[in-house]
Amino acid sequence: MTAQLINGNALSQQIRAEVAVRAAKLAERGIKPGLAVVLVGEDPASAVYVRNKVKACQDHGLHSVFEKYDAAFTEAELLARIQALNADPSIHGILVQMPLPKHINPQRVIEAISTAKDVDGYSVQSAGDLMAGLPGFRPCTPYGCMKLIESTGQSLRGKHAVVIGRSNTVGKPMALLLLQANATVTVCHSATPDIGAFTRQADVVVAAVGRRGTLTADMVKPGAIVIDVGINRNDEGKLCGDVDFAGVSQVAGWITPVPGGVGPMTITMLLVNTLEAAERAAGA
Ligand code: NAP
Repeated sequence: MTAQLINGNALSQQIRAEVAVRAAKLAERGIKPGLAVVLVGEDPASAVYVRNKVKACQDHGLHSVFEKYDAAFTEAELLARIQALNADPSIHGILVQMPLPKHINPQRVIEAISTAKDVDGYSVQSAGDLMAGLPGFRPCTPYGCMKLIESTGQSLRGKHAVVIGRSNTVGKPMALLLLQANATVTVCHSATPDIGAFTRQADVVVAAVGRRGTLTADMVKPGAIVIDVGINRNDEGKLCGDVDFAGVSQVAGWITPVPGGVGPMTITMLLVNTLEAAERAAGA
């Protein structure tokens, strides 16, 4: 391997330690940053994600409330819970775990969360703030990817960044954050012919597709920074990303592993957003 590994676990630990220090400062003023995590239904992957988020709060001096409802919970009941959490001064961030059962409209639920508590950054208001370059909560996964890129010490100014994937939660906000950092940005997606023609010119590639083998060594410019957001399983059932790690790490300059790259950073940036929500509420 010639690429330097970007260690998401190590960077996470460093940022989480800073979160714990800032949370302790707020605690001196009698304020404990609080995150409410709401899960509806029995999706097993969601249950794991939620457990990890709640545990991360507990481990770093944040207060967390976990509300779990069965799949028959109605949209009206969920909206009523969100209104109650919006009004609860001990809660600074609200996260509703996706996906929701089919009878609940996810966008209506997201829009019901107060913008001041939208720590996932999924609301139209938060997306608009990002697009306009205004302060607001940035979606945790792309926000974490930016921290991983920053940790290489390489400036993005004038660099060409290619994002593969254009979801509202990862690809699009990722492209906007890179643009804000003065990169020249190309977004590729399922209708892009010959993605390699773009990635071969890229100084930074962020792969956020959900299909293993999306980025192979022949598609990467020597020395590039490669960030792998994808979560997939290989033939042996092991976790892997969208990037062919064995091949690409021989060409790239920096690369994130899966697991241990973007995954831990997503939860870390949720803690950061919740802490910042509490600091703003406290006028800090
Ligand atoms: P998504 O909503 O399914 O979006 C996938 C995107 O990939 C879409 O924009 C799609 O294009 C594009 N795409 C699909 N097939 C493609 C192909 N063959 N070539 C190029 N682009 C293609 O997924 P997501 O929520 O953005 O997540 C993407 C991946 O990241 C998933 O594996 C997910 O599990 C993972 N993820 C990881 C974390 C983490 O914390 N590590 C967090 C979030 C997501 P169209 O728009 O044209 O359909």
